[in-house]
Amino acid sequence: MWDDKGVKYLDMYGGHAVISIGHTHPHYVERITEQLNKVGFYSNSVHIPLQEELAEKLGNLSGKKDYQLFLCNSGAEANENALKLASFHNKRKKVIAFKKSFHGRTSLAVAATDNPAIVAPVNQNPNIIFLPFNDENSLEAIFRAQGDQISSVIVEGIQGVGGINVATESFLRTIRSLCNDYDAVFIADGVQDGYARTGKFFSHDYSGVNADIYSMAKGMGNGFPIGGIIIAPHIEARPLILGTTFGGNHLACAAALAVLEVIEKEDLMSNALSIGNYLTEELKNIHGLEQVRGKGLMIGFDVPESWKELRKNLLWKHHIFTGEAKPHVIRLLPSLALQKKDADIFLEAVREEINELSTLHNLANK
Ligand code: PLP
Repeated sequence: MWDDKGVKYLDMYGGHAVISIGHTHPHYVERITEQLNKVGFYSNSVHIPLQEELAEKLGNLSGKKDYQLFLCNSGAEANENALKLASFHNKRKKVIAFKKSFHGRTSLAVAATDNPAIVAPVNQNPNIIFLPFNDENSLEAIFRAQGDQISSVIVEGIQGVGGINVATESFLRTIRSLCNDYDAVFIADGVQDGYARTGKFFSHDYSGVNADIYSMAKGMGNGFPIGGIIIAPHIEARPLILGTTFGGNHLACAAALAVLEVIEKEDLMSNALSIGNYLTEELKNIHGLEQVRGKGLMIGFDVPESWKELRKNLLWKHHIFTGEAKPHVIRLLPSLALQKKDADIFLEAVREEINELSTLHNLANK
């Protein structure tokens, strides 16, 4: 990226995991332009073949070929529809969500988000039960006590806003088996960690079990607003129980198809894994950086208090965008097309800044 004065920036944040194939990728620009010249929008009351094309491509790349696709416009909306569909399916009301979760800012999605500051009184919902993340015992206990009332369990494979906390494979498998035993719906929130970012299509796939519904959004349109859920075949998604005016419009489908085509053609899922592993290993070797964690190109690490200027200095001195999670986590969510040379520029800048900040800190403490 370049600013208005021509200064070049390295984007290690991707506008919050949204820029999946890179800014202004030529195929993306061409596909959307071509579509705009044909038809940009018409209502879902007419058949839109691009939606089927997208469903098929998504099924192939994600490996969830027999899932049905519902398209909407954002991550919150995707989760809203997932929770609603689960409740239609088993006619129950209770939802299990986890501490430090983030699922969006609308009605049910925000109620299932563990941040009281963004839950308005009208959104407070007594049906949401928050449990500690990665704690199988408390999950088993709640199902034993209230299993016949639990409609769904919603979980990020890697908590993003919560600070890059990776769900253990065993935790996700326990969710799967409890949902099977009690006829509850397993909702995998893949809005931030999905769409090939971690080296698998959904980070939940590392656990080896399938969820009943996956939500997705951020990387799906590379910046064009689109979200969606895919729904396992045993859940009936009758026409008209879910609906939207803008969801699945022609332009959004063209954007989402362009993204999948580039991911496939340029093998970006493998790239995300190999460059992500390289970055993670190199960051782990930097003395003083704590708890380097994540999968593929979804990486977080803790920055000690004495280096709290690190993120700001990376931006203003080295022109590198990164993200944060409170209180001291730096989050990396770059394009899946990140190259090793870009990773090296970032690593070199981190090493240089840490040296400088350590020297300043030592001088101040003399
Ligand atoms: N779910 C997760 C895991 C997210 O990280 C986010 C956004 O950060 C959302 C849902 C909400 O997505 P949106 O902002 O598109 O509504």
